[in-house]
Parts: sequence; C-alpha cells; structure tokens
Amino acid sequence: PVRVRFAPSPTGPLHIGGVRTALYNYLFARKMGGKMLLRIEDTDQNRFVPGAEEYILDALHWVGIEIDEGQGVGGPHAPYRQSERREIYQKEAQRLVDEGKAYYAFDTAEELDAMRKRLEEANAPAAQYNAITRMQMRNSLTMNPDEVKSRMDSGEPYVIRLKTPRKEEVRLNDLIRGWVNVHSSAIDDKVLLKSDGLPTYHLANIVDDHLMGITHVIRGEEWLPSAPLHVLLYRYLGWEDTMPQFAHLPLLLKPEGNGKLSKRDADLGGFPIFPLQWTDPVTGQVARGFREDGYLPEATVNFLALLGWNPGTEQELFTMDELVATFDIAQVHKAGARFDIQKAQWFNHQYIRLRPDAELAPTVQQQAEAAGFTCPIDKAEKIVALLKGRVNFAREIFDEAGTIFHAPATYDEAVMAAKWNDDAVRAVTAFHDALQGYEGEFVADSIKHALSDAMQQAGIKQGKIMQAMRLALTGSGAGPDLMLTMEIIGKAETIQRLETALA
Ligand code: GLU
Repeated sequence: PVRVRFAPSPTGPLHIGGVRTALYNYLFARKMGGKMLLRIEDTDQNRFVPGAEEYILDALHWVGIEIDEGQGVGGPHAPYRQSERREIYQKEAQRLVDEGKAYYAFDTAEELDAMRKRLEEANAPAAQYNAITRMQMRNSLTMNPDEVKSRMDSGEPYVIRLKTPRKEEVRLNDLIRGWVNVHSSAIDDKVLLKSDGLPTYHLANIVDDHLMGITHVIRGEEWLPSAPLHVLLYRYLGWEDTMPQFAHLPLLLKPEGNGKLSKRDADLGGFPIFPLQWTDPVTGQVARGFREDGYLPEATVNFLALLGWNPGTEQELFTMDELVATFDIAQVHKAGARFDIQKAQWFNHQYIRLRPDAELAPTVQQQAEAAGFTCPIDKAEKIVALLKGRVNFAREIFDEAGTIFHAPATYDEAVMAAKWNDDAVRAVTAFHDALQGYEGEFVADSIKHALSDAMQQAGIKQGKIMQAMRLALTGSGAGPDLMLTMEIIGKAETIQRLETALA
C-alpha cells in the first residue's frame, strides 16, 4: 500500500510551496488508496521556531489536507517528531560505524575551515570531506583506536560521517525527472550524527522513511541534489530493496518567471506567500497569509494544484475530490511553475460565487455597520446575492455596494447627455407615480411587472429608457441587476431617488 509523508521542518511559517508539496502528497495518497503521514523534522535545534509546528497543523487543516498518521494524529510509528527519536538514529549511525561504512571525526570548526581554504586555493571540485581529503583530517580512519577511545572518553566532541565510496555509480529513477545518475566522487562524507547527538536531516530522513514504511518520497526540487546521497544511505543501511520511489516537484518561480519565488517577492508584490498569517515570535513582524487576505481554502487548493500540474484538458475548476480523481504524479511538469497571484484571485472569484449568500452576509453586515449604516442580515444577504458575482473577495462586496447605501450624489455625465431625453423623463415620472400607488410586495419580480405595466400605459419602449432609469436610481449607466437593487434599497428610497433625479 502507498504511504507518503509530508516532512516539514518547523523553522518558521510553512511557505506556500510547502503547502503545494503537502497537497501533491495528499492527492497521490488518496488517489492510490494509501496513507498520508506528517512527520516533524526538528533535529536542527538552532533553527527551531516556537509556534511553527502548530502553524503547520493549522495550515494543513485550513486547506483541507487530512493526515492519516503522524504528528497531531498519532499512529503505530510514534513519536513522529524527530527530536523525540534520537536513540533510533544513534543506533543506526553506530551500526554504520561498526560495519565500516561511517566513522568518527573530531575536526574542529577551525580545522574544517582551513581544509576548505586549502581546497579553494587549489581550485578543487565541490565535494570537500571525501575519500581523498579525509586521510588528512582527524578521524577514526586516520587515528589509532586507542586515541579514538581516549578522545571519546574524555568527552571531546565528535561527529559521525558517512564513508562515501570513491568509485560507485549512484542511480535513481525519479517519477517526474526520469533517470538521475551521479558518481559517488561528487558526494562528500556527509555528517550523519552531529556532536550534540542529534542526526542531520539526511540520516533522520532516511531512517524514518524506512521505519515508517514510506513508499514514495514526493518533495521539492531543492532536494534533488541530495537524492543520490539518500540512495547511497539506503544501500549502506541495507534497505535498498525497499527504497521508496522519488518524485521531485518543480520550483515555484517569481510572478515574472525570473527565478525562484522568495519571501521578498511577496513583500514587493503585496501578495501572500504563506497560507496563514504569521507573526514572527522574535521580531513581531507580521507576514500575510492567504486566509487573512480573503482567499477561500478551496480556491487556494485549486490554485496550488495547478502550479506544476494539469490534467491536459481545458478544465480549470476542481474540487478536492475531482483533483484526487484526476491527479497523476507522472504528469507533473519538470519546468518551474510561475506563481501568478492574479490566477489565485481568479480562482477566488470563481469560488466566492459558489458560496451560499448567508455565509458571506455577516462580512457585509459588519462592514456596513462599521461604516455607520444599519444593515439587517436579510438585507446583507440580498446584497451578497446581487454582487458576489462581481468580486474576487468577500470584503469587496461592501465596496461594490456603494449605490445601495448612498443615493447618487452625481450622475454620469456621458450617460446623462446620451440618454436623459424627454422619453426618459416621462418614463421616470410614470414609474415614480406608479410606485406611489403601489401596494404589492416590493420584491424584484413584482417591481419588474410594475415597471413594465407603467411603461406600457405610458406607451414607452422599455428598452430605450432602462439606462436612464438606472442613472436616476444609481447615478451610473451600468451595474448589477436593477430590480434587485430596488428591492434592496426599498420602496421609499426608490421613490425618493426618482424624485431627486427629476428635480
Ligand atoms: N524536512 C525537509 C524539509 O523541510 C523534508 C524534505 C523531504 O521531504 O525529504 O523540506
């Protein structure tokens, strides 16, 4: 059975790219009838940020990604926080040392710097601590066993490094990128266990993916360079037979397509790159979130799903269930995906229209009341019905409702010049008079009848005067449904506005 994991590091708020990674894992898991795990990779104590784990859980919950097993849910492989699993990694690192596949290294930061300098001066290739250089350094391969033991006994700090083979081919078949071949000479002797006894990302990630039975590793492209090292680790740990398959997702690019999306782009472009708002616990700085900016979770999911994948059809709107049914990991693009916030707004527009009026009404009511208007909830609901098709965000409905709350202060001059003729004045007068005697229910349908009856009696072609009628009522020549507009402003106000226009 398919088992995938989302394995964020709680080093700050989850970037929107991280949410896309989680989403693709989730879609794949659901599609394959498998399980989605959440593992917290918090072994880098220096980068730990309080509140980040809660943020991750909240963000996944908000977009509707359900975790089957892992942090916050529990499961047979608990704990799912790596900082609580250190003995497990220590045991495996020790096993590699015992089997001659890893070694202890005592080099100080100064010694490592000096080596780096020497290599730089010699223009050596990137891999630094490797089969060649390790012979000049202070480690258990160059020291006699007594010395190693006495250093360890005296509490001297050490790390455990992988003994990278000198000449080995490392291959992996990425589900998105195809074959990736790397020669082991390009991989250095990575630290597996740090001097604080905690594992590095590489060791912990491999050990946990193995122990947790992960079948597919779906993650960002930034991890592709590490994948050969991971293959090597599976081989050394004796787990190559059950090694997961890899799928590295394309980068998210800046809106203009020039380079990787970064936090700075969000600051400059004024758009969110986090799912939820985040307050930095140290600086107190607030970073914008999709949720607080008024994006609906279903719009956010739809937008993210199409950043790097599409089903090859014209369809753009997908519910989560439709995404699950259609998603295909092999169809994920290799090329980076341009982060186009206008597309996100377009999706939000689509989904705002689908939201029930009653759900959006309180937002309108609050804004109206804050602006000093009385706005009972049934009125707010009607305003939503009238205007929700014209906005990208719920908060914009109130902004669009200016002509509801205010009688026109001015009239559009161009429309006035073109349409405010004798017929128009007769029509507005006739309708005004008809409304004064009108006793029926003042709702869009009956208003429509009242209007056409009045026009018929006056012998006026309704089509010719509608723009003038709208001008009289709202001050402009175009806008949302006029009958519903009248219903919302009510009979007295309608009559009043017609009178003012005629004056
Ligand atoms: N902890 C890594 C991250 O924060 C996980 C990478 C992976 O999925 O292997 O992105």
